[in-house]
Amino acid sequence: MQLPQIDTQRCTGCGWCVAACPPHVLSLQHHGWQKHAVLHNIRGCTGCSLCERRCPFGVISMVGKDISRPA
Ligand code: SF4
Ligand code: SF4
Repeated sequence: MQLPQIDTQRCTGCGWCVAACPPHVLSLQHHGWQKHAVLHNIRGCTGCSLCERRCPFGVISMVGKDISRPA
């Protein structure tokens, strides 16, 4: 199972990945004056990698994760 890993330092908060995610498990969260994408529902992610392909800034990479363990 591959899950998106978001480099929050480089994420611009543009929201493209949020719009691209079919099961809507990505959302934008505010951190002070910045916002960036987070995977708020790991178990809902299908690993389709659409978000990785959609991100214009190459901020998302798909990584193998054992989702049976707590994040
Ligand atoms: S891999 Fe697919 S399901 Fe998972 S967060 Fe990205 S777009 Fe959504
Ligand atoms: S598409 Fe990329 S830069 Fe835009 S919110 Fe998603 S991860 Fe951040």
